[in-house]
Amino acid sequence: MIYLKNREEIELLRESALMVSRTLAIIAKEIKPGAIPVNLDKLAEEYIRDNGGIPAFKGYKGPHGVPDFPATLCISINEAVVHGIPTKTPLREGDIISVDCGVKKNGFFGDHAYTFAVGEIKPEVQKLIDVTKESLYLGIEQMVSGNRIGDISYAIQQHAEKNGFSVVRELVGHGLGRKMHEEPEVPNYGKRGDGPKIKEGLVLAIEPMINMGVKSIKQLPDGWTIVTSDRKPSVHFEHDVAVIDGKPSILSTYDYIEEALAQLK
Ligand code: MG
Ligand code: MG
Repeated sequence: MIYLKNREEIELLRESALMVSRTLAIIAKEIKPGAIPVNLDKLAEEYIRDNGGIPAFKGYKGPHGVPDFPATLCISINEAVVHGIPTKTPLREGDIISVDCGVKKNGFFGDHAYTFAVGEIKPEVQKLIDVTKESLYLGIEQMVSGNRIGDISYAIQQHAEKNGFSVVRELVGHGLGRKMHEEPEVPNYGKRGDGPKIKEGLVLAIEPMINMGVKSIKQLPDGWTIVTSDRKPSVHFEHDVAVIDGKPSILSTYDYIEEALAQLK
């Protein structure tokens, strides 16, 4: 069942999405060689709780036999695709780090992610970052009334593959609302004209996960972290987007992050 949202609900979703955007901007300022992921996680949790939000990933139920997710942020480094658990291992020059954050506020979820470079990174890794981010925006452009989910999926896949990268199949974007994961699923690969119709009030978390090498992934023994099978880098970007007046309106923003990064230069 797809729950379409009214304007009031969309504004509440925007508030939650922007809380995530501001959290990611705080983290952006701290990402450098030597930074400790668990400390970044602590900063994020404090900011969210101080501002009346609830970290949505912390305590998230794992599959059978896997402990609940222990942190506010998913921090996925280099070959980690998503769902990485923050560790005490310092970041190193040349790493890339995907930071995914979820909050619940006023009963609605925000869920949004950015991949950061730690110091200087290799040009081919920068290209993977750029192409993944571009593919996110190309997917968002397709989120107009009358299109179908497959149009979003197709746009993302085309751009990634045209540039020689591969698309993770097992993990997908999703509807967003009073639950963090609602219908429909939003694969990052697919055919034009396939899948559910896009309608006014649809809210999606669109999140391409693009690999430098093979598309296949593996689960680490911690039960959470997903890595590429060939251990080559993977990049993840995620925005929360609503259909308003037939067109996509991005509820989250990278502006705060990019302002923070520009100040560091
Ligand atoms: Mg996310
Ligand atoms: Mg998501």
